Amino acid sequence: MAKAKKRIAIIACKNIKGVSCVGGCLKCFKGIAERAGEYERWKDYEVEVVGMDDCGGCPGVLMPKVALLADMAKLYERDFDAIHLGTCIMKATQTAKCPIDLEDVKKKIEKKFNKEVILGTHPY
Ligand code: SF4
Repeated sequence: MAKAKKRIAIIACKNIKGVSCVGGCLKCFKGIAERAGEYERWKDYEVEVVGMDDCGGCPGVLMPKVALLADMAKLYERDFDAIHLGTCIMKATQTAKCPIDLEDVKKKIEKKFNKEVILGTHPY
């Protein structure tokens, strides 16, 4: 029987994306392929990545970015179920004085856009 599908979007730290994830966000795609880290929750699903974006740079403009992503996804009939905020954003908040309040932004995105928000992506 075919697996149910989950469509996801990924948002990364603009300062880190493409630096520690050299090779086009290779760590995220490896994590998805292996259902590793926060992607493990999708082990019983087929996963389709509908889009990747970044936070827009410090101090982080996640709400407008998610609004744009949601609008474009609808326009192109690629709506998604969940948004992963990258491991890079987690690391930035823990080690680099990133000003994003993750729990607060998670609540706001879930309330305004009715999307599941997952804090983290790959484990590497
Ligand atoms: S706001 Fe945070 S996640 Fe965005 S670029 Fe700055 S440090 Fe990275």
